[in-house]
Amino acid sequence: MTSERLLHIVGSGPAGLAAAHAALDAGASVCLIDDNHAPGGQIWRGGPGRWTDARATRIWTALHDHPRFTHRTGTQVIGCADANTLLVETADGGAAIPFERLVLCTGARELSLPFPGWTLPGVTGAGGLQALIKGGMPVRDRTVVVAGTGPLLLATAATALRAGARVAAIVEHQPWSRLTGFGLALLARHRGKFVQAASLFAALRAVPYVTGARIVAATDDDILRGVTITTGGKEVTYSCDFLGAGFGLVPNTDLARALGCATADGAILVDATQETSREDIWAAGECTGIGGVDKAVAEGRLAALAALALHPSARDIPGLRASRAFAALLARAFAPGDALKTMCRPDTIVCRCEDVTAAQLLPHRDWREAKLATRVGMGPCQGKTCGPGCAFLFGWTPPDSRLPIMPASARALSRIE
Ligand SMILES: Cc1cc2nc3c(=O)[nH]c(=O)nc-3n(C[C@H](O)[C@H](O)[C@H](O)COP(=O)(O)OP(=O)(O)OC[C@H]3O[C@@H](n4cnc5c(N)ncnc54)[C@H](O)[C@@H]3O)c2cc1C
Repeated sequence: MTSERLLHIVGSGPAGLAAAHAALDAGASVCLIDDNHAPGGQIWRGGPGRWTDARATRIWTALHDHPRFTHRTGTQVIGCADANTLLVETADGGAAIPFERLVLCTGARELSLPFPGWTLPGVTGAGGLQALIKGGMPVRDRTVVVAGTGPLLLATAATALRAGARVAAIVEHQPWSRLTGFGLALLARHRGKFVQAASLFAALRAVPYVTGARIVAATDDDILRGVTITTGGKEVTYSCDFLGAGFGLVPNTDLARALGCATADGAILVDATQETSREDIWAAGECTGIGGVDKAVAEGRLAALAALALHPSARDIPGLRASRAFAALLARAFAPGDALKTMCRPDTIVCRCEDVTAAQLLPHRDWREAKLATRVGMGPCQGKTCGPGCAFLFGWTPPDSRLPIMPASARALSRIE
């Protein structure tokens, strides 16, 4: 196998798995790198034993013992040594992985917005709470509230219910009129998604779904005791043990930016065949724009075929157009509204690594000035959480990607050859 037929892929979520599958089908070899111990990424989290989506099982059956497939699990890409060498951290230390053609399928992370009490134990992102429950955190007979905006709230509430939790409320920021418009658009143009949403709502029928609402504060006596929300001019408090607060997703672009790929509107910039601004790197899935699992699968396939110079056209990829139209609909329906800025009070911590409050940030004009004066974004997360938060609150351009892009141990860094 010549090296131009070896494809490196970062991320084994739906996009990365679909890319690997298409590449193997086309006769190439694949090295799939992911920091988790099981394939699946976010939506297919937990590995083959837990999947209910037949696509995931079908793809993995074709991949897992294929002679041209290498799966590097538990391998976190922490940066690059040069334009064509990835640096990774594993349990054994560090390594350098050279590549000629790379497909980035690095997914997304949650947009966390600050409100009083968001740093309390028991408060997580909505997707974070879902991931913890899927990972085995016991919530049976405990009370959960999910709040923020977007379909992930429903998915998290459903996961919590299935795990035996009581879900006291789903608190959605968007008004009912906008949600109705979204539902009607699904019915008219994305029938399959409408059916999925309807069955989610049916599973959640006993849970209050509060719309046009936002969080006022999470309340505590050292640990989370409840959450107060405001809706229709009234404040309502729910007692809870866990609060999952999520306001949408933000594409993971750190590695792409470290490799010199251009971004636009917070996502990796790609052309019609998923090629980035670098001619040897392609990108697919949530890292190129939030759109869900169908978009990730379709784009993964397209990116792999393009990376192997098979000249695919977007028209040849089933479901691609529809999934992109769905992504656009999703973005319009669930864009976080300006009213969510009012959740953040002057004494609310915005940078939770460095304990920097909104009042300390307000006098500054941009991210750089604020960083120099307050240490915002200089903690372990390097602005991955507060960067998008500050972009939303103050309109600041998020920080540049710095190496290592993830916290890495000195042991790993020193062992990279
Ligand atoms: C917390 C969370 C929960 C979600 N839950 C749902 C849900 O229940 N239903 C739903 O429809 N959608 C959900 N989504 C949306 C989800 O992103 C998509 O539906 C789908 O998983 C996107 O597939 P993807 O392949 O683009 O990315 P992902 O599935 O996110 O896969 C990306 C993979 O890349 C890996 N990765 C990223 N950077 C690196 C690196 N530097 N080194 C090594 N590996 C790396 C990640 O660990 C991950 O395994 C969720 C998103 C998030 C953030």
